Amino acid sequence: MKTSSTRPRYRPYTPDNFHTLPQLDKISPKRIEDMKLTFRVLPFRVSNYVVDELIDWDRVPEDPVFQLTFPQPEMIPRVDFCRLRTFVRAGNERAASDIVRRIHRGMNPHPAGQMDLNVPFLGSEVLTGMQHKYDETVLFFPTQGQTCHSYCTYCFRWPQFVGLDTAFRFACSDETLLPRYITEHPEVTDVLFTGGDPLVMHAKLLRKYLSPLLEKKPGNLHSIRFGTKSLAYWPYRFTEDKDADDIIRLFEEITEAGYHLSVMAHFSHDRELSTPAVEKAMARIRSTGAQIRCQAPLIRHVNDDPGVWSAMWKRQVALGAVPYYMFMERDTGPRGYFNVPLVEAHRIFTEAYRNVSGLCRTVRGPSMSAGPGKILMDGVAEVGGEQVILLKFIQARNPDWVNRIFFAAHNPKAHWIDDLKPAFGKQQFFYEAEYIRIQENIRRRREGFAAA
Ligand SMILES: *Cc1c(COP(=O)(O)O)cnc(C)c1O
Ligand code: SF4
Repeated sequence: MKTSSTRPRYRPYTPDNFHTLPQLDKISPKRIEDMKLTFRVLPFRVSNYVVDELIDWDRVPEDPVFQLTFPQPEMIPRVDFCRLRTFVRAGNERAASDIVRRIHRGMNPHPAGQMDLNVPFLGSEVLTGMQHKYDETVLFFPTQGQTCHSYCTYCFRWPQFVGLDTAFRFACSDETLLPRYITEHPEVTDVLFTGGDPLVMHAKLLRKYLSPLLEKKPGNLHSIRFGTKSLAYWPYRFTEDKDADDIIRLFEEITEAGYHLSVMAHFSHDRELSTPAVEKAMARIRSTGAQIRCQAPLIRHVNDDPGVWSAMWKRQVALGAVPYYMFMERDTGPRGYFNVPLVEAHRIFTEAYRNVSGLCRTVRGPSMSAGPGKILMDGVAEVGGEQVILLKFIQARNPDWVNRIFFAAHNPKAHWIDDLKPAFGKQQFFYEAEYIRIQENIRRRREGFAAA
């Protein structure tokens, strides 16, 4: 760990300046060549803080934080990777980009067509850059918050980071829409600013998005949340950056206005909670009256170990934060590399959960953010002689489904709700017919607007 008296300055490493990484002498030339090939397929950006203070370079490539931030050659199907190498070595750039395109297609850049179903309306105006799926909470994607200080190798936004999706397609830069929408929707109590990472934005810009809410104060709005990975990837955001004081002041204004402010911090490994920089940043955020809640997906090679999760939850509580969600990894990108099956995920969760006090047990998971809702994998049991998987909605498109238990046939290989079949020989899960109707209704309403 380094300490330095000068103000730390954010410096990202990307494929363009990768060769300037001082720690490259820890990696074999062969692996460096393979990593460069990998950058043609998968996005790469890592901050100097992650490189200098988080990664244990003596343990590379297995090091979990290295796996978290450096795309690995093994993430790409072997045959495709070898072809790519052959073409690049031969200088055949055209064939190389064809292979890259093919690999991208195999990675399924549009899981479930989710985005479209959740885009809300104001009158007949489509509010791209917002999502409203669960009654209480509106998601807002500010245009300038659609990037991150470093990229997670498992990020499902990888198509936008490699330019396959126009980065701002789902983003919004009109700050007046949010208070209008919230005022017209009395069921909304929470707004969640998300991205990317909205806290990469300059404090001035963030203030532009928050000011209308702070001025208008819609009576139904209780909580403002920021989804962020900045505490893990650039904690100096809250302490040393030029606008750090400004952002802290903005947090204070939010809590002084009577809102509950929650920083939804993405922490993937307990090492991210171990540096003096993150401790200081968390204390500073907490001093504004904001709460910090922590969540992350369960990822093979990064945190598929109960010890990592229990250490993480304990550190979070020690630092005044609240463990919140353990997610299942979405079915996209190099998923074969990261996937942990549901049954194993539940075992990891349970072994970690057993070893922590009740103060850590605010955490819920493993949870799948699927089309119909957030579905909790709640265990394995034998019911009427059949081995079943217990599932439960902890968030749902129809509130009537919330907290309802249902059963799937046991399947040790299943990663996702789509891999599961209902137990007891049933044809469908209880919500499926209604979910299809809900989707049809949304589409019909949308087409109605389009025709009007
Ligand atoms: C998870 C999620 C939320 C927030 O749910 P909480 O359980 O209140 O944290 C809101 N909208 C979407 C689309 C989500 O996936
Ligand atoms: S912090 Fe979130 S949005 Fe950013 S790269 Fe990681 S998973 Fe993706």
